[in-house]
Amino acid sequence: MPIDATLPYDDANIFARILRGEIPSKKVYEDEFALAFHDINPQAPTHILVIPKGRYVSWDDFSAHAPDAEIAGFIRAVGHVAREQGLVAPGYRLLANVGAHGHQEVPHFHVHLFGGRPLGPMLTRP
Ligand code: AMP
Repeated sequence: MPIDATLPYDDANIFARILRGEIPSKKVYEDEFALAFHDINPQAPTHILVIPKGRYVSWDDFSAHAPDAEIAGFIRAVGHVAREQGLVAPGYRLLANVGAHGHQEVPHFHVHLFGGRPLGPMLTRP
């Protein structure tokens, strides 16, 4: 079910639990600001989620409230993961879903990193 991105941060969400080490993830990268791990239900040969370590519900929350250092650290981590995965030359896609219309399901800000095949048009019509 898509979430309401205006709700306060919920420490019980699944990505908060991954960050606390309470449930496993297939980690590909970690630094001071970000954790990257494989999506459990991949939509492309490479489908990685990159999440900030801070408590932000969505892109909206993160872009409005995160300190500059956290934003810079997170953006650099996303780029680093894409380079490390060899995705720059073939190309890749970043996606951040926000709230109900964005079909965001996990209420901890995350960026999807897709690659490994031509990804087609940006959106499909309903
Ligand atoms: P979104 O719709 O943008 O909120 O995407 C949430 C993503 O999290 C989906 O692609 C799920 O497959 C993925 N996901 C949910 N639970 C886990 C988990 N435990 N480990 C890895 N990925 C997960």
